[in-house]
Amino acid sequence: MKPLPMPGVYADERGGLHIVLPELLHGAGYDDTPENRATLLDAAREIFGPITICDDGYTCPRCGRTSFNQNDKHERYCGACHRFEGDA
Ligand SMILES: [Zn+2]
Repeated sequence: MKPLPMPGVYADERGGLHIVLPELLHGAGYDDTPENRATLLDAAREIFGPITICDDGYTCPRCGRTSFNQNDKHERYCGACHRFEGDA
């Protein structure tokens, strides 16, 4: 999936949009509360139309950092360690 020029918003290969809520909230400077989630989702749906919500990420087994980047999740890559999970 390609990141769009907005944190937490990714386009998949089929033209679908995936919203990673924790990343979107963080990027917009909002606290992760149910109210803020609802507000941002409403705004995103108004801008983008139908969207898919991704609410999970990839937690690195080495450092414990969680990335909500769906590319990292897919490739099991940690941006803090700069390593893939299978790397020595
Ligand atoms: Zn790591």
